Amino acid sequence: MTDGFDIGTRAKARCDVLGLPPCSEIDGQLTRRFLTPAHAAALSVLEGWMTEAGMSVRRDAAANLIGRYEGEAPGAKALIIGSHIDSVRNGGRYDGPLGIMLGIDLVEALHRAGRRLPFAVEVVAFGDEEGSRFPASMSCSRAIAGTLDASALEMRDADGVSVAQALAAFGGDPVGIAGAARSPKDVLAFLEAHIEQGPVLEAEGLALGVVTAIAAQKRIMVKIIGTAGHAGTTPMGLRKDPGPAAAECVLALERICRAGTGGLVGTVGRITALPGAFNVIPGAVEFSMDIRAETSATRDAAVDAICVEIHAIAAARDLTAEIRMAQALAESPCDPGLTDLLEQALADLGLPARRLPSGAGHDAMVMAALCPTAMLFIRCEGGISHNPAEAVTEADCALAARAMLGFVEKLSLSLSSRPQRSEEPGPQQSPAHPAVPDRPFGTSGMTGA
Ligand SMILES: [Zn+2]
Repeated sequence: MTDGFDIGTRAKARCDVLGLPPCSEIDGQLTRRFLTPAHAAALSVLEGWMTEAGMSVRRDAAANLIGRYEGEAPGAKALIIGSHIDSVRNGGRYDGPLGIMLGIDLVEALHRAGRRLPFAVEVVAFGDEEGSRFPASMSCSRAIAGTLDASALEMRDADGVSVAQALAAFGGDPVGIAGAARSPKDVLAFLEAHIEQGPVLEAEGLALGVVTAIAAQKRIMVKIIGTAGHAGTTPMGLRKDPGPAAAECVLALERICRAGTGGLVGTVGRITALPGAFNVIPGAVEFSMDIRAETSATRDAAVDAICVEIHAIAAARDLTAEIRMAQALAESPCDPGLTDLLEQALADLGLPARRLPSGAGHDAMVMAALCPTAMLFIRCEGGISHNPAEAVTEADCALAARAMLGFVEKLSLSLSSRPQRSEEPGPQQSPAHPAVPDRPFGTSGMTGA
């Protein structure tokens, strides 16, 4: 490449630029919440970089920034490459933005080489993946996927400002937000590159991983009920103390999840003794359980086993257990065909194609309602994320960009080698160019979150 452009190598430095004011709300740390001046500043910088890379840039009604690089025929279906530009409070610089920078570099490489593909490439900066300002999250990708619930616009931040008010002040269009939805006819696929946010790749000495699915998740509240009493006057043998029972339940969850496979993980993140005093045997203990696995079936089998144990533990101590399901999210499998292409792109670079599930949620799970999806994971130091200590290497970012370019080349080839269905031409494609099939990769990617 000319001008010393080396795909992917500047992505890390660009994320670092966005880690500082005005692209952070707070000096000395990175906090960039949805629809804040820091978000606006970051979009202005990105707009410049997208334009330099050869894209035409627009903002949609939901405050997504979208850069488009046309394919061989104007108006062709788009491969969308994207991730989120917002951060948690005092977060890391690469969680989200890195995937956008790599997308911009990919387009710039095509542009510099004068390459046009059988499809357009769009790079999207979603504004709201983390939910760090409003109670809702992923509202920007939901707007694009056409799955945004209107009630999300009424949610308010800590200052009482609603999403609709903030969006209007930002230059978005809360009234016309449905217009941000894309048609499946116009979107070929979605690719997201993201730091792993976990320790697996680093532990195995690997730069990159191919995501198989975003994990199925269940959130459950458990309440073990006994009898409150005086901590000094009630003999041990005459107590109905839910505290030790809750401890046994936590250990049972750990044992079952440790013995499990298929990406099974379980966490008790919150535990409360009631009423909660030094000198009172608790009358009840409440705790949360977060159980995740690659498939709902694996997750549910573990949840069932844990619930059986909880009831048994409570019964053995003459206590009562109440178990309440708070939230269940189905797994979002990545498209098998696209995942194979990504794996081949890694193999071409001499990299082992480690497949792994994503335990964390991503915009890709929302986009799966619109089109087939694929996800690439990039190693991060110590698996640390949502933390200013988050770190990636320039070399890993360069490998990721090359893998994404390889993926795009393979996607091009796979489309041109497929028998074309002339009875279903793409709506805006000229007869000189083959129509892109409506659903080239099977249907599994359509399973929504
Ligand atoms: Zn993220």
